[in-house]
Amino acid sequence: MKFDLGIRVGHLLTMKEGKGEVQKDYFVGVEGNRIASIVPFKDELVSACKRFINAPDKIMIPGLINSHTHLGMSLFRGFEDDVTFHQWLFEFVFPVEAKLVDEEFVRVGSELSALECIRFGTTTVSDMYFFPEVTAGVLDRAGMRGLVGQHLADFIAPDEKKFGDQAVATRRERFLQFFEKYKSHPRIQPAIAPHAPYTCSDELIQMVTKISQECGIKVHMHVCETTGEVEESIQKFGKTPVKRLYDLGALHENLIAAHSVHLTDEEIELFKKTNTSVVYNPDANLKLSSGIAPVTRYRKMGIKVALGTDGAASNNDLSLFGAMDIGTKIQKLSNHDNTAMVALDALNMVTYEAAKVLGLQDRVGSIEVGKLADLVLLDTHHPHTQPLHSVLSQLVYAYQGLEVNTVICDGKILLENGHFKTLDPAVVQKDVDHMRIKIENAL
Ligand SMILES: [Zn+2]
Repeated sequence: MKFDLGIRVGHLLTMKEGKGEVQKDYFVGVEGNRIASIVPFKDELVSACKRFINAPDKIMIPGLINSHTHLGMSLFRGFEDDVTFHQWLFEFVFPVEAKLVDEEFVRVGSELSALECIRFGTTTVSDMYFFPEVTAGVLDRAGMRGLVGQHLADFIAPDEKKFGDQAVATRRERFLQFFEKYKSHPRIQPAIAPHAPYTCSDELIQMVTKISQECGIKVHMHVCETTGEVEESIQKFGKTPVKRLYDLGALHENLIAAHSVHLTDEEIELFKKTNTSVVYNPDANLKLSSGIAPVTRYRKMGIKVALGTDGAASNNDLSLFGAMDIGTKIQKLSNHDNTAMVALDALNMVTYEAAKVLGLQDRVGSIEVGKLADLVLLDTHHPHTQPLHSVLSQLVYAYQGLEVNTVICDGKILLENGHFKTLDPAVVQKDVDHMRIKIENAL
């Protein structure tokens, strides 16, 4: 037996080098957790596989990458919608988090999110939330891949309460413990996630930058999501948030700047100069009326851009198919040019280019021999996915996410014919029901 797993697929979109070429009737062979062969299908390949999946009518794409989310927040889905951004964050999210969020809350929220991600073909996430070790544990059990960021801000967060007046003083030491625990994990990578310039002091931003340099890890931060925070920064610091980050030495190639909706020309130049990356979150930006990030311009200038869903409290789902669709269309509209962003751009932002943003380009983001086996199979037989003139167009403008049939991460099957193979959805649902009642009673 040569391959642990072999898959015959009707339409193979490898995303190699970010190109959108589709190969017909191909075979992908997996040895252990790596892709070992990509060749035209032949009958004799079947006997070389310990396990063979015959999918001549399906599309295969690389496992999708969600570059900005808060998995633990999915228990807040749909609870306080249709209010202003300020009300949403300061009157709802922050106070409720302070009251309710504990390890159990993050575990259940992360499990629900992990199921949703897998169901929608997402194998890698870049997360930012409290109790990152809990989320890391959930992703590990779910069989997924992730950059898991320790949330930090000037206020004492739910995961810091138990440290009392030592909470701030022990931040560095506690993060380093988390880093040590996961730094060699095959699928989980620790990251550090200062919430946003408007919630982080200069001292905190400098500490985070130093840790990032020492550990060689990514910094994941919300940057310039709203015009309000830009105005506040000018009033408080005499400069825009990005200029302040630059002056603090906090713009660098390891910074993943989520949103980046409101940047001046000078700030965009600073992103380019420092090789800072951007995550575009069109659903959340539209829903919270934050604005439209000029990602077409960023990419033309050579700034790397990935796509994210943000958390379920501000989207309200974690489907990258929805994000690709709406994200592409609003770029067409805002640029008054329907070629400004095309289907291939969107697919790049959830695969090849996203892997570069997260620093995982040697491992994932495209289907290539030697890369890790993160693979997604999608059905093509639904009325809304036919006829299949263009795989790329269908994936971005017609697919919704539930057409995902089978998901493989690191060579392991996480979803097969729509059935979950790692986490048990019935068990997670019981916990979600319990937490829903707890949330309602607490308010
Ligand atoms: Zn966010």
